[in-house]
Amino acid sequence: MGLLSLGTPLHWNEAKEYADHVHKHGILQFLNIYNSQKDQKKQRLLWGDEIEYLVVKFNDKEKSTKLSLRAFDILEKLTKPETDYVEGLTDKAPDALWRPEYGRYMIEGTPGQPYGSTFRDLIQVEANMKLRRKLAHDAMDPDEHAVSLVNYPRLGCPHELYPDYEPKGSACQSLFVPDEIINPHARFPTLTANIRRRRGSKVKINMPIFHDNNTPKPFIDPTIPWDRDLFKHDKEAKEGAALPDHIYMDAMAFGMGCCCLQLTFQACCIDEARRLYDQLAPVTPLMLALSANSPIYRGYLADVDARWNVISASVDDRPPEERGEEPLKNSRFVINKSRYDSIDSYLSNDATYKAKYDDIDLVYDKDIYNTLRENDIDEKLAKHIAHLFIRDPLVIFKELLDVDDKLSSDHFENLQSTNWQTMRFKPPPPNSSIGWRVEFRSMEVQMSDFENAAFSVFIVLLTRAILSFGLNFYIPISKVDANLQTAHKRDAVLNEKFYFRKHVFNNRSKTDTEKEEDEDAYELMTMDEIENGFPGFVPLIHSYLNSTNIDIETRCKLSSYISLISKRASGELMTGAAYLRKFVQNHPAYKQDSVVSSEITYDLVKRADQIAKGEYHPVELLGNFSA
Ligand code: ADP
Ligand code: MG
Ligand code: MG
Repeated sequence: MGLLSLGTPLHWNEAKEYADHVHKHGILQFLNIYNSQKDQKKQRLLWGDEIEYLVVKFNDKEKSTKLSLRAFDILEKLTKPETDYVEGLTDKAPDALWRPEYGRYMIEGTPGQPYGSTFRDLIQVEANMKLRRKLAHDAMDPDEHAVSLVNYPRLGCPHELYPDYEPKGSACQSLFVPDEIINPHARFPTLTANIRRRRGSKVKINMPIFHDNNTPKPFIDPTIPWDRDLFKHDKEAKEGAALPDHIYMDAMAFGMGCCCLQLTFQACCIDEARRLYDQLAPVTPLMLALSANSPIYRGYLADVDARWNVISASVDDRPPEERGEEPLKNSRFVINKSRYDSIDSYLSNDATYKAKYDDIDLVYDKDIYNTLRENDIDEKLAKHIAHLFIRDPLVIFKELLDVDDKLSSDHFENLQSTNWQTMRFKPPPPNSSIGWRVEFRSMEVQMSDFENAAFSVFIVLLTRAILSFGLNFYIPISKVDANLQTAHKRDAVLNEKFYFRKHVFNNRSKTDTEKEEDEDAYELMTMDEIENGFPGFVPLIHSYLNSTNIDIETRCKLSSYISLISKRASGELMTGAAYLRKFVQNHPAYKQDSVVSSEITYDLVKRADQIAKGEYHPVELLGNFSA
């Protein structure tokens, strides 16, 4: 999470009056950054990962688990090496940086410093991730563990929190989770409440239930308190928000409380960042499918394997007019997506870009676009920013309304950091030496650090291959969207096909192209074809490695990471989601009714923790790479 400023947060009724102010100054701040940093050149590759963890409390005697809401006590200990370093109390740079996240049971860890461009850096990734897990564990009570599951299987079921609270909070008004589950920093309860206020109803999340042999059909969830009468929005479930045959969720925590694995790359210059943004965009859904690790929600097996749509719906602040369900009266735009969604347009002016790839009707603020164009921002970048700025700022701190637009980027970041898309284009902070960066945001966190390192290193190497071979992954952006939906499906990696480009090299000879009716052809392919076919990601990465000077030992380590991804794609190894689903279905206490009980949850979370610590090695998930 970016912005964590302090102050008095405004209720939506007041905040909306300042939306124009934030938009206007946000654009001025962007222009200041752009003008001072656009010519920045020769930045070196720096990159880093972000891993989020759940804090889970185990009771091994009773064989039960609870989500621990103690993240803030733990974070205080975890951040001490960093604060000591910053305050000059020690010369030792911290090994890891720790940040709070949306859930009061979540912590986020990143390496102490970004990694550089060498292969030695790549070898440090897994070790640093393991160290982080150890540091996290050391800062916790002995019965607490840092678990890198995407979501806690029984989040939103009764009595799953420590300490225990009733779901009676006015910020989220959820039937299932209390406000105490939210990060107490004013930003987060305000964000939660203002999303509901702006939307005019609670958020509405429905994920299809996995129908097992004994699951009732239709499935009408008996655990929903249908008749509760505590808050204005309590009737929504009964009035149609909760769909039959679905797992219904009604709060931001169900989405923003999920853990993911993100990567940020610094490019050498703005143009390279824009190129990487475009080339990685079609990769995001593929990696969501390969990293899928979340088949359980609110105590039920779902018929999806991945979290993205849950988060998307969990922060969807669009009122009915913006959703296109009512004619526009008070809203300015009909907007096709949530703020948390896939990107809507490409960004690069590279020669390989063609206008036909942008086949989604882009909604953008015309006035902002014009302002940007008048200030010499090119069309694509102007549209990108004007598209982000169709959203309203949700959290405004009264004391921070008036800032120096040359020194601050708060208003720009207010919108930038609440447009949670599959890719993020990150301009440098004002007056800093940091370069233009892109963030790869679609992947699900993995249970073990071997897997987290494998996915991270794989994407780093893919970016190197993209840049060094000038690869071209462009397909129409609507097809990237279609892939994102496909990626959610149960066992998508094995059973589904994804749109991908047939020819990824630009410098194909004339005769090659003459033979083809369309050099930009794309088609539906299996994940195995995209990753392992010719020229799939895996062979491309190996050719890149072959073109470099790399010692045998390093090459072996990197090959094990690449192999994990390759074998997930071919189906030789399972995805985390498939593994977890099977774990539930094979559990002796499972009644084939889709219910993931506390007993099953204890064993499952325990297993995830054992896998992370290397105490248990499921070959079907991890292969024989790391023992
Ligand atoms: P976010 O805004 O996405 O939450 P964070 O600050 O949490 O971003 O994490 C960003 C990641 O980027 C971290 O892994 C960090 O190591 C890495 N990083 C930091 N500085 C740079 C840089 N100049 N270039 C690339 N990556 C960086
Ligand atoms: Mg972060
Ligand atoms: Mg991030």
